[in-house]
Amino acid sequence: MKSSVWHPFTQHAVAPEPTMIARAEGQWLEAPDGRRIYDGISSWWVVTHGHRHPHIVAAIREQATMLDQVIFAGFTHEPAERLARLLLARVNAGVDNDPLAHVFFSDSGSTAVEVALKMALGFWRNAGEPRSRIIALEHAYHGDTIGTMSAGARGVFNAAYEPLLFEVERVPFPAPGREQATLDAIERACCAAPVAALVVEPLILGAGGMLMYAPSVLGEMRRITERHGALMIADEVMTGFGRTGTFLACDQAGVRPDILALAKGITGGSMPLAATLATGAVFDAHYSTDRAKTFFHSSSYTANPIACAAAVANLEVWDSEPVGERIKRLAGLQADRLASFGDDPRFSSVRRQGTITALDVAVADAGYFAGIGPQLYERFLERGVLLRPLGNTIYVMPPYCTSADDLDLVYDAIRQVVGRG
Ligand SMILES: *Cc1c(COP(=O)(O)O)cnc(C)c1O
Repeated sequence: MKSSVWHPFTQHAVAPEPTMIARAEGQWLEAPDGRRIYDGISSWWVVTHGHRHPHIVAAIREQATMLDQVIFAGFTHEPAERLARLLLARVNAGVDNDPLAHVFFSDSGSTAVEVALKMALGFWRNAGEPRSRIIALEHAYHGDTIGTMSAGARGVFNAAYEPLLFEVERVPFPAPGREQATLDAIERACCAAPVAALVVEPLILGAGGMLMYAPSVLGEMRRITERHGALMIADEVMTGFGRTGTFLACDQAGVRPDILALAKGITGGSMPLAATLATGAVFDAHYSTDRAKTFFHSSSYTANPIACAAAVANLEVWDSEPVGERIKRLAGLQADRLASFGDDPRFSSVRRQGTITALDVAVADAGYFAGIGPQLYERFLERGVLLRPLGNTIYVMPPYCTSADDLDLVYDAIRQVVGRG
């Protein structure tokens, strides 16, 4: 029977039939016939501890028997209240500058960043000093809504929507050795005219090709925005919840942004949910007896109780299990496996940040449409490994329950598949 489902980022005219998945457990996906596939990209970067963590599944089951959904304007519920408290305690641990103080819920990474941009503009307008200039990095990815596409890099993905996208000030990616050019460009942009916000993916630009930069650069970016009184939005939708080795990527630079966007790992990969965290100053700018200063944003499912319960359970796993040690061990295993690729002429820019590794395959037609991407995808799948190269960039973003043997399966597949006809 022909499927009527339209899949995301899928060219149905050339894509192979989608693989049917019936169940999942830990680091494994399982087809209806029992065939297992190792989930090497954490199901598009969302699964952290592993699929169906028992504590998270139990919390979802329990919450579903109590309260499924309720309007979140004028009403509240314990899962959201607890989640906000737990998130703030986590992200403020160990920092003493202007802590993040308020949590706004939505349901995807795109909406979390869209909310962040709206908060920034609202902040300046309500302060009586309207600003709308946004600074963003070259190769950035912040989501697929019109606003977040505007902040993200322009390319074939958004060419059709270009007429509707708003202008942002683009600064060069801080590639190793070229960091100063980025910092100078931000400084210049801030000097030229008042800036509403700098929006960045801390330490790794994900969809832009797993491009990595040093924590010291992030620290410098923060100092520049502080000096010029511009807001900093950290898009930790992908990097949050331990991917870079620390809970937040910002932890490695000891910085806290004015606005922080979280999504993917927030429920451990079990339910759609997102949160945008803001400082007291950003909240206070919207706090007024003047109703026109209200923060005008809502999703129908804002703070869905079942999703919030899953996120609370996720943070409880962080507190009750040695997640930090697991991440450290996984990062070490990843580093070991990657070492042998450093002098392999088939690869370049062999790199790692925390639990994430990436390497570029030498090809003539580098970039997202590099012909090799879809071929590699299919060959990995034949070997029971889900990897979805970004053009000619292969990356591995494993669930934290991954074993040394699992990684051997992955890296043996990479070694055998690339450049062998
Ligand atoms: C995935 C991603 C988004 C968008 O999240 P969705 O949940 O897919 O809307 C935004 N920013 C970054 C850095 C991401 O990796």
